[in-house]
Amino acid sequence: MNKLKMASEKSASRVLMLLSQLERLNEEPKVSDNDAIRQTTGKILHLIQTQEKTRKEVASKSSGGMEIILSSLENTQDLQTTLNILAILNELLTVGGGCRTGVFVSKGGTALLLQLLVGSSKDPPANEELMLHIHSLLVKVGLKDRKLGVKARLNGALNVTLNLVKYNLQNHKLLLPCLQVLRVYSSNLVNAVSLGKSGTLEIMFEIIGPFSKKSTTLLKVALDTLASLLKSGMNARRAVDRGYLPTLLTIYQDWHRNDTRHRHVVIRKSILGCIKNLTNIKLGRKAFIDANGMRILYNTSTECLPVRTLDPLVNTSSLIMRKCFPKNRLPLPTIKSVFHHPLLHIPASGPVAKLYNQPPGVDDVVDESDENEATEVDTENDTEYDEDETGPKTQNDDIETDINKLRPIQMNTRPFDELRAYEYFFREFSENFELHRPIIIPTTPSSLGPQNRRPPQEDLLTPKPDESPLELDSISISKRPEGTSDPDLVCSLGRLVLDDEGGEQAVLEVPDTAALLPLHDPDLYLEMVKSTRSVPAYTEVGYPDYFGHVALNLREPILERVYGVQRMKIFQDIERLIHPSDILDKVVYDLDNQSCPVTDNGESLKFNSKFESGNLRKAIQVRKFEYDLILNSDINSNHYHQWFYFEVGNMRPGVRYRFNIINCEKSNSQFNYGMQVLMYSVQDAINGSPHWVRTGSDICYYKNHFSRSSIAAGGQKGKSYFTLTFTVTFQHKDDVCYFAYHYPYTYSMLKMHLQKLSALRTAQIYYRQDDLCVTLGGNSCPLLTITAMPGSSSNDPISQFRSRPVVFLSARVHPGETNSSWVMKGTLEYLMSCSPQAQSLRESYIFKIIPMLNPDGVINGNHRCSLSGEDLNRQWQNPNAELHPTIYHAKSLLQYLRATGRTPLVFCDYHGHSRKKNVFMYGCSIKETVWQTNVNTSTCDLHEDLGYRTLPKLLSQMAPAFSLSSCSFVVERSKEATARVVVWREIGVQRSYTMESTLCGCDQGKYKGLQIGTSELEEMGAQFCLALLRLKRFTSRLERHNHNSHLLDMETDLIETRSIPNITSPTTYVLEEDEPAFLEEVDYSAESNDEIDPDLEPDLQDNHAPQTPILTQKSG
Ligand SMILES: [Zn+2]
Repeated sequence: MNKLKMASEKSASRVLMLLSQLERLNEEPKVSDNDAIRQTTGKILHLIQTQEKTRKEVASKSSGGMEIILSSLENTQDLQTTLNILAILNELLTVGGGCRTGVFVSKGGTALLLQLLVGSSKDPPANEELMLHIHSLLVKVGLKDRKLGVKARLNGALNVTLNLVKYNLQNHKLLLPCLQVLRVYSSNLVNAVSLGKSGTLEIMFEIIGPFSKKSTTLLKVALDTLASLLKSGMNARRAVDRGYLPTLLTIYQDWHRNDTRHRHVVIRKSILGCIKNLTNIKLGRKAFIDANGMRILYNTSTECLPVRTLDPLVNTSSLIMRKCFPKNRLPLPTIKSVFHHPLLHIPASGPVAKLYNQPPGVDDVVDESDENEATEVDTENDTEYDEDETGPKTQNDDIETDINKLRPIQMNTRPFDELRAYEYFFREFSENFELHRPIIIPTTPSSLGPQNRRPPQEDLLTPKPDESPLELDSISISKRPEGTSDPDLVCSLGRLVLDDEGGEQAVLEVPDTAALLPLHDPDLYLEMVKSTRSVPAYTEVGYPDYFGHVALNLREPILERVYGVQRMKIFQDIERLIHPSDILDKVVYDLDNQSCPVTDNGESLKFNSKFESGNLRKAIQVRKFEYDLILNSDINSNHYHQWFYFEVGNMRPGVRYRFNIINCEKSNSQFNYGMQVLMYSVQDAINGSPHWVRTGSDICYYKNHFSRSSIAAGGQKGKSYFTLTFTVTFQHKDDVCYFAYHYPYTYSMLKMHLQKLSALRTAQIYYRQDDLCVTLGGNSCPLLTITAMPGSSSNDPISQFRSRPVVFLSARVHPGETNSSWVMKGTLEYLMSCSPQAQSLRESYIFKIIPMLNPDGVINGNHRCSLSGEDLNRQWQNPNAELHPTIYHAKSLLQYLRATGRTPLVFCDYHGHSRKKNVFMYGCSIKETVWQTNVNTSTCDLHEDLGYRTLPKLLSQMAPAFSLSSCSFVVERSKEATARVVVWREIGVQRSYTMESTLCGCDQGKYKGLQIGTSELEEMGAQFCLALLRLKRFTSRLERHNHNSHLLDMETDLIETRSIPNITSPTTYVLEEDEPAFLEEVDYSAESNDEIDPDLEPDLQDNHAPQTPILTQKSG
């Protein structure tokens, strides 16, 4: 042992001795020293080859060995010495990880090697051993030195290596390291272009074809080099011109056939990698189609499907096929909404102006410009790509950084005289309540109270006895024309024409939901529908709205995503191209062509959506049990497709039907994360189960091959639509079923609920309904005032009444967010209930509520806009009285309140969120916004009351669906015209919120793992009320103490703010979407290089990705 140690120490010191000897020789070079240097380096090489310890010694920083060796390399003219040194370096860099290579690179080794390479190539033939050593070293350097490619080009080394490859095709010993170096060179785009011009593509094809299982390592390197080269558009064009695409397909097929034991999956994948890059250009996609590539990849993939280890091949093939799938035109005459509502005033600019100014005859469904290649970059002009220089992308660029825009606006923007008109809506503040008998507050409209209910519907539903079997068709009503007095309701249920004279027996049992649905009454609903004005002048009523929906008493779990669903669906889509004869392409429903009746052989489903909130535009039977569906655009708009509500009939039970909504626009959806569509079966309803039920299997959401014109995509070219696909098996024959994006809640339903709610009024409840204004579509916008009656009409109770703080609530500015209406229903029911807390709450506040800010949008099946074609929640800064009446008057109410010193304590606008789970709030805080922008916090030692955090905190303690960690109090630039931000800044409401409810479900709390239903949403609305009651305890101290330090102490305790000063980002900055981008997603457009590289994530393509929020920082 001691002997060994001694020996090793001896040898270590020997190598150090040799190094210092070498160093001396470097310092005083003499020609006669050549032999000495040769000998010394030879000895060092021998020691290094035999003892790892010596390597460590040489490579160690303290010995300075690397510098000495490099310096010798630089100085020597002697071939043998050079070879010795290169061999030493090769030995050194082979082991010890990248660390030694890093030292080598940092001491300028790369440039030295390249100079040596270029220098020795000047007098051919080059020494083979020398070339071998240099390239072996360069391969190692390539792993560490990201700039090797650039350095090689600048030193003129690219062609030296290329020529070596060219002339040594049979000399595999030298060929392999040279090719490996070439692979490194080609990863730089400029190099790729230069190498392409020098004929590298042709050489690579000599290496990779024809098929042979010999020297697969070489083959793999050549394929990878080729794939890199083909990333340049110029090289790709050259390759297509030379007919290389069919060659690659043939080679791929050969490998597919011969690699029966799947030992060469990496090679097969590399071939696909080349095809993938080649098809980034349009010419390549065309060549692929011409070479029958679709069928070849489809067939090979189908054969690969059963073997899970071949998934990377299937996924890459699928990616190529999707990319090459010819882009289709949506089968529509125009993307503008089928229905049009003429506007009196067209805004001067913006989307609506654009739409109106579009010349007639313009095809807005596709772009001519999509057809040219102008957007494809010419790589001749590619600039140097340098990864080091691309800084981290700023994700927070939407955060408001202008401190002046974060400060409240001090002045009153409108003269009070103008606001005086709104006194009418605040009559409670001037009433004397002098009457001692029960006070009846007039409520408009009051034509139909509970006292004059229609007779039970059994009398109405009077079919002829011999009519069987029962056929369900739509309910339709004949509306009373203006000014006439004929109130008759004609209710048609299939052949059952309902009129008042009928004396027949009832066959259709209307489910008795009265006990379960106290606010629902089918007759009253029909009555309400009659006064609802829709742009298409609907005369039919959806059964679910008529019968009502009773919340399902059943857990509906968030769906687990099944492996391979999206891939399977995409393959089915590709089959349309492979087997075109299987495709029916039969239009079975078409709003654009209503005059042309759809021929029906009984083999197709029947579709309908001509009822309130319905919005199906077209249905095409693609295969026997598969339908493509197209949604209508929002009225006076050419996009916003997400909400859907339609009816299906004539189904066969027990058959799997596939539905594809093919013109969705959002890039991702909760449908990829376990959300199901909603279905309502009329047969089930009649049989006592009137429920909307979460349904559908094989659900996924992905980019499709229907191109989206730039007109509809905000000017962006080359965009595609997305498909939501789901599969349903119907249970009953002769059923009529409805599908919806979320639980429908129509405007007529709101009117019915309000009518019913007003009937719940007691002597203690002050409930008043006013019409805030009339909408563009001629519907009234209800405004509710709810509070408690004063204890008596004497002075004290009246003054207590008048001093109650105002709570201002609104909902459903976005029609597609029906969940917000269900939450509002929960709030309203709670406010009208007779529990002691409800009474206490009414005694605490005066509630001003606009339950539906966008009635027209709701009625007409819009997703986002009002009839003006605009998003009303972007109009709060400067609402136009004519174009945005509900917003204009709602804001005026708030301005009136501010002007009269009654600025609301709380403002909350209820919304729905399509891409996140749980219920959460957005609020406004200067401090938290400033924190997020990383602006020096000293610029913002503003005093800010933390009271805005109280209500969300209370809700998180009380409401199971509510998640505090999803809340955000950051003010974004893009939201500056929303209700929340404007009411905060201009009206001065500190507690101004948007409350977002998920459309999908919860991932925390009591409802974790479940999809959300109406009872959870209604519960949320009730819990909101209870939280307000708790909030009162904090805020009433403010009144009593008349200064807010105590209140602040209380709130500080509650919201645990002690941690805030220690962290820079106390709140979540919520990006629009907190789900990860779906990994199967593929970008079709050749122009875009942002597709997810399947090489990186071969196995994740179909997994249910973990739902960790992106870039969110949790507080505390
Ligand atoms: Zn919304």
